[in-house]
Parts: sequence; C-alpha cells; structure tokens
Amino acid sequence: METLEFQAEARQLLQLMVHSIYSNKDIFLRELISNASDALDKLRLATLQDGLEADASDLHIELEADPEARTLSVRDNGIGMTRDEVVELIGTIAKSGTAELLTKLREAKESPELIGQFGVGFYSTFMVAEKVTLLTRKAGTEGHGTRWESTGEGTFTIDDAADAPVGTTVTVHLRPKDEEDALYDYTDTGKIRSIVKKYSDFISFPIRMGEDTLNSMKALWARPRSEVSDEEYHEFYRHISHDWSEPLEIINMRAEGTFEYEALLFLPSRAPHDLFQRDARRGLQLYVKRVFIMDDSRELIPDYLRFVKGVVDAADLSLNISREILQQDRHIQMIRRRLVKKVLSTVKDLMNNDAEKYATFWREFGRAVKEGLLNDPDNQKAILDVATFASTAGSEPTTLTAYIERMKEGQDEIYYLTGDSRSQVENSPHMEAFQAQGYEVLILTDQVDEIWVEAVPDYDGKKLQSIARGSVDLPKDKEEPEPEGDFAPLLTYLKEQLTEQVKDVRLSHRLTTSPACLVSDTDDITPALEKMYRAMGQEGPRVKRILELNPNHPLVGGLRSAHESRADDPALPETAELLYGTALLAEGGDLEDPARFAKLLADRLARTV
Ligand code: ADP
Repeated sequence: METLEFQAEARQLLQLMVHSIYSNKDIFLRELISNASDALDKLRLATLQDGLEADASDLHIELEADPEARTLSVRDNGIGMTRDEVVELIGTIAKSGTAELLTKLREAKESPELIGQFGVGFYSTFMVAEKVTLLTRKAGTEGHGTRWESTGEGTFTIDDAADAPVGTTVTVHLRPKDEEDALYDYTDTGKIRSIVKKYSDFISFPIRMGEDTLNSMKALWARPRSEVSDEEYHEFYRHISHDWSEPLEIINMRAEGTFEYEALLFLPSRAPHDLFQRDARRGLQLYVKRVFIMDDSRELIPDYLRFVKGVVDAADLSLNISREILQQDRHIQMIRRRLVKKVLSTVKDLMNNDAEKYATFWREFGRAVKEGLLNDPDNQKAILDVATFASTAGSEPTTLTAYIERMKEGQDEIYYLTGDSRSQVENSPHMEAFQAQGYEVLILTDQVDEIWVEAVPDYDGKKLQSIARGSVDLPKDKEEPEPEGDFAPLLTYLKEQLTEQVKDVRLSHRLTTSPACLVSDTDDITPALEKMYRAMGQEGPRVKRILELNPNHPLVGGLRSAHESRADDPALPETAELLYGTALLAEGGDLEDPARFAKLLADRLARTV
C-alpha cells in the first residue's frame, strides 16, 4: 500500500469541502451519479468505436445504503480507471486557472457557482464523508483493480485490489447526521429516492436500488417543453455544463424530414472563467438516437458561440462516427448553420422582450460574439443586429439602429473611437469637435473591437468611421473662425522636423481645446492594431501617423509667429517635439523616450517660472 499526497490545489479544494462551504450537501450524490453515467457512456463508446471487448449489455448504476455501517455506495459497471488514472484524475486538479479561482473562493464564502466552475464533482463527497473508498477496475484490463481511500486531509492511500469487478464503486463513509448543518441521513431510502428524482432523473442509464429503478431515463431534449419543469432543465444543464448557476435561456429545436435532429441548448448566465483561454473546453454534446457519442463537439457550434452549452441528437449519423468525419459531414454543417441562426435570433428576442436578460447576456458574452463579425461573414448583419455599444449619448449601451435614428441632419456615417477605457476615449482630443457639435460617437473598448471594425464596412448603408482616422469633414453648425496668418511654412517646417515620427502635418477640424492630435491615414492600421500584431509576433514597418494642429490654439498660433520671425531659433525643434509628445500623451499613447520628453518639458517650464 502506498500513501500519496494530494496536489496543492486539490488539497486546498478539499479543505473547502471538508469545512463545507456549500450549504446544499445533497448534491454529492448527483456528482457521483454524474461521474458514473459518464463512465458508462465511455464504456459503450469504446465498444462501439475502438472495438473494446467488454460487456455493455446491462450498463447501469447501483446504489446501496447500509444504515448499520453508515455507508452509501454508488457502483457503475462502466469504463473504470487504471491505478495511474486514479492517481492522476482523483489526486490532482488539472484545470487551468485553478489557483486563481481558489483565491476567489476563499474570499467569497458561499459561492456555489464558483465551485461549479471546477467541476469538483468527486471531491464534494467530503462534505458528507468521514472517509471515502473507491474501488475500480478498468474495462479491458486483466487481473487486479485498484483501491483508493482518503479522509480528505492531505493524503490518500492506494493499493491493488484483487477482487474488483470492472467499473467503479465509490463508498462514502458518512459523517453522523446533523440536520441543523443540512447533513441528512443519506442511508435513508426515501431521501436517496428524492435526491435521484430531483437531480438525476434524466440520466440515460438505470439507477437501481434493490429491485427498483429510481429514474425515468427520459432524454430531456426529446420531451415537449411544456412537460419539462424548469428545475429539470436546470439540473440537466448542470450535468452537462458543470456550471451551478441557472442558465439564462433555454432553446429547444427539432427538425424533421430528410435529416432529423433535436437540440437542447442553453445560454449560460455567466461567462466561464476560461472563456478566452485557448485550451478551454467548448462545444456541444453529440448524441445519435439517444446514444451519447461525444463531448465538446466543436463542429456543432462556431468558436464565437463557444459558451453555448447543450446537446444535439442526430438521427441519421453512424454510431461510430469520428471527429474527422464529423468535420466534413454536410449534415453537421447544416445543423451548425441552423444552430447559429437560432442562437442569434434568440438573443434578438431577448433584446426585444427582456432587456435585463439581454444586458446580462451581452455583458458576459458580447466580447466573444463580436469575434463572429470577423469569422462568420455570413452572419455579420445578424450579429450587428444584436450588438450594443457604449456611446457618448448616455450611460446605456446603444444598438446601431438606435444610433442611426439619432444621427444628426446631414450626418451619414457612424462615428466611433477605440481605446482602452471609456474615460480615455471620452477625453481623447479626437472627440473635441464631435462633442462640441453634439455628434454621437460609439466608444469601443474591447480588444476585439480594434479588429472587427476593420472587417465591417457599414451597417444599414452607413459607413463605420473612426474619428481618429482620415480627415473629418463635419457638417458645420457654425462657422469656425478663420485662422489668422499663413500656416503653410510652419506645417512644412514641422513635417521636416518630425519626419521620423509622422508622415504629414496639417491643420485640424476636429480640435476645439487641444493644440494637436494624431490621426491615422485612411488606409493605415491603427497603433492599437499594430501593437496587437506585434504581440502576436508579426513584425512590420512602423506605421507613421498624421499630426493635426489646432490653428486657433495660442500655442500653435505662437509657434507660427515664432517660426515666421526666428526660423533658426534652436528652441523651435524642441517645441515641435513637445507638441508631438503632448498629442501622443493626450490619446493615452506611449512616448518612445519618456525621459527625454520630461527633460525638455522641465527645461521649458524652468524658463517660464
Ligand atoms: P469531473 O467529473 O468534473 O471531471 P471529478 O473530480 O468528479 O471531476 O472526476 C475526475 C475524473 O475522475 C473524471 O473526469 C473521470 O475521468 C474520473 N472518474 C470519476 N469518477 C469515475 C467513475 N465512476 N468511473 C470512471 N472514472 C471516473
């Protein structure tokens, strides 16, 4: 027999379980049954697809309670585990972001939805157990099995077991009943029945206790919506998603005819912590005629809708279909197209009929959905229809349609500005004339915004126009004062002085209070985009921008006269540099040589105090 230590993260999580931060302890049984059901699915699949020789004729889950010994056992005749697998799967938590989540968990005492994100499954037994014994043998292996045992306090023992049948038996040695602490008598037949009915009725294998089968085994997606309670849907959602919070929206689909399928989809109410991690689990479950075929089927839903959970049950696929074949299957592609349309139309319905739900959805998943503007050109319009954006018009996000309705007389473009934060964008010099003249500007602060705006030319015939790019030609409310004097020589001079930094220097129509700002040329990429490409390892030439000056600003006016009267004053090149640096700082940009800028500025200030 060997005694091993749990991995550090696993230990911390167990601590939380032992000290039972979750008040509903009943769910440990649901977790064990869920694991058993997965193990049965895996065995059946292995016999179908990998030619595993194992008895799949009576796959089931068996519960056995012993009130004398105070134990409850959950037994399955599924795939089982090898010794190495037991150590690996039960002794460690492999999921990324665990440490970070654990910190959050400790801060928030009662937080079932956070625990749910781990899929702590098996560990939840330690909420009710003094000790847990697991006996298992992997299907297809000869000889002995493995016995694992732990009190949940830092270590576990592992040993060979000669007598183990194929599958897994988890025996929970129960703590004394303590109803005040919601620790019920889990050897009580009535209690067990009610837990199974409540949480595990839809499990597709029989859950037996003695002679009785406790669950109806009805596939939820095959039942009419009117006959299924919300509670049942929620439990099913938990089973497939490991998310303990309730879903935001439930979507039923059914197609009949040449290619039949049923789908049951869920929009979660919260983004998972790994929504933007590449290795995160995503995709839907695929069934063929009620038989589980695979988890995480990415072929069924595009990446930008990766947060959608659910099941697709297709009638006409082969039971041993592989992922490779799935990718090319025409029917699967057709299902996928329909699911996308249905999800987007559901979001649209939320938008029109349930503003609060829609707002939750977009807050949690909008950033992911916007990736579709790039990756799914066919649905660009449908995605923009359900998108909302922050705007200078108010604190509430706006649709593009509402923006267009508010456009001013003579305005024919949708104005936007990208940046890191709302306040940075609002205070950017580029905003000045737009704000002064009451033009609404969309405030785009998600990273993905920098990219999709390049891919979307217009909405409803209205061009999307960055106010930090190209020249602005605002229809004027009132006449701007004509700048005094001739600026042409100054512009030429500055262009020469700043030739390393900018491609052109010109007078601006977008500034009212700032002396200068930087804008991108019509067809050039923006600095933020350039930075992103760099971060992805794509080197390119630095893209120079255009310096625009406000001719009505005293600094610019003064510079013009200084240049006119003392063209060879050694202070002029420094002023040019300061002007450029100020424009860069004002939009939140990074100076190339901040120390030099600070020194120039300090020297200049010293002369004026
Ligand atoms: P999760 O189910 O979320 O992956 P668990 O901690 O409940 O997390 O289980 C960890 C892993 O241990 C499972 O993914 C599975 O591979 C394995 N496992 C748990 N229970 C069983 C079982 N009854 N039969 C076979 N393998 C199991």
